[in-house]
Amino acid sequence: MIPVSDLSVLSVASECWPLVKTGGLADVVGALPAAVAPHGVAMTRFLPGYPAVLRALPRKRTLFRYDSLLGAPARIIAAKHDERPILVLDAPAYFDRDGGPYADPMGRDWFDNGLRFAAFAKAAADVAAGRAGAKRFDVLHAHDWQSGLAPAYLTYTVDEAVRPVSVMTIHNMAFQGFFAADFFGRLELPRTAWSIEGVEYHGGVGMLKAGVKLADAITTVSPGYAEEIKKPQFGMGLEGLILGRQDRLSGIVNGIDTQAWNPATDQALAAPFTAGTLEARTTNKRAVEAAFGLAEEDGPLFTVITRLTWQKGMDVLIEVIDHLVGLGGRLALLGTGDAAIEAGLHAAAARHPGRVGIRIGYDEALAHLLQGGADAILVPSRFEPCGLTQLYGLAYGCVPVVARTGGLGDTVIDANVAALASGAATGVQFSPVSYEGLSDAISRTIRLFHDPAKWRSIQRAGMAADFSWAQSGSDYAALYRRLKERS
Ligand code: ADP
Repeated sequence: MIPVSDLSVLSVASECWPLVKTGGLADVVGALPAAVAPHGVAMTRFLPGYPAVLRALPRKRTLFRYDSLLGAPARIIAAKHDERPILVLDAPAYFDRDGGPYADPMGRDWFDNGLRFAAFAKAAADVAAGRAGAKRFDVLHAHDWQSGLAPAYLTYTVDEAVRPVSVMTIHNMAFQGFFAADFFGRLELPRTAWSIEGVEYHGGVGMLKAGVKLADAITTVSPGYAEEIKKPQFGMGLEGLILGRQDRLSGIVNGIDTQAWNPATDQALAAPFTAGTLEARTTNKRAVEAAFGLAEEDGPLFTVITRLTWQKGMDVLIEVIDHLVGLGGRLALLGTGDAAIEAGLHAAAARHPGRVGIRIGYDEALAHLLQGGADAILVPSRFEPCGLTQLYGLAYGCVPVVARTGGLGDTVIDANVAALASGAATGVQFSPVSYEGLSDAISRTIRLFHDPAKWRSIQRAGMAADFSWAQSGSDYAALYRRLKERS
């Protein structure tokens, strides 16, 4: 039963699991409505009408028609998903294409990404303000640069007396949505918006910048990352603006969907298990070995499930693979991304047949099996706003070995002497992200693996930790409420 709500939120995002996903953003957007519902918040999601989204939603009805939304006809469509209301921007000129949400089938960014997501953000502001067929919302919650102009459209096109408050969540500062100055003319914003107080950023249009500047509150997905983005190394040019608005900034760590990610009921596992039946993980390990062409044995099996990018430290991983194998470890990696990294991984697999298995591609079911069958998951990210794979690892007794940064540092308790003695340790942290840092962490992990009492204690402590959305759902709801009361 969905509890009574007294606050309405429009959650505006370019991805939402299970309808469309390229990364952690989708998981968060998919899980948020249920997380905030117990706190009296009715959340409606607003998504672009990609073909997969439109196909997945039955019984759609048209709420509103635009003859021209930044130059193309469009409709706002209402439907239900997961028993909850969902709104979709059906604009075939922008979204009815083969390929991914942001790139063509060759992996090249769509040439008109700026216009596509400006139109999306404009429609979001119209919907939230109650002028596109839906009732006005109390709060517009924008996620990442694709929704970053929504607070700008609210600021410049909606009367202050009826303007919903807005929250801008940064899931990754590395993607900012920057476009050339002449693009401003396409946005149908008043000239006053062209200023450093508005959407202008280094002589162009900064979509994330606009959201950070104009939203009533800024959040990011862990307290650690909220601190880091005040510094140039992590703020990626926006650190000054973030510092100037730090009184509006908070970090709320992502939860995980404990129904989709529950090792006791997970259909993708060869053998479901609990903290009391960890020995059943061996069956999953056999299934991983078979899927990745690895030798069948009980020694330490590492996994990596990731986008293959510099951010994720994959170049460092490639350097360390020989060391990992030299210590008796094996690696099963699932990922997709940079061609040069793929090539380096394939070369490592060719050097170590039966010890290193690589699967290039995106495979949700295989990601679950890896968490249930591998012994440890490596997350050597150079920066990580929150990170989800370490949280799934904790829930699945797949011990996370993580770089000490952002959300990774916030969610994994390093197996140092004190944490081991008190039974608090849930994984291994290391720093810096370098050959030395990662190879030492792997050596330490393998030593712990060969001490079964300590290893079991680490696995069980991770599985007992609460990474459900309970706390974070309550934190978001409290934030929405504070903003509404202040407005
Ligand atoms: P990011 O959003 O930066 O990619 P996160 O750790 O926050 O990183 O989220 C990644 C999400 O995508 C997780 O749910 C992870 O399981 C999933 N994922 C990443 N790569 C793959 C892949 N190749 N196949 C299946 N799932 C993947």
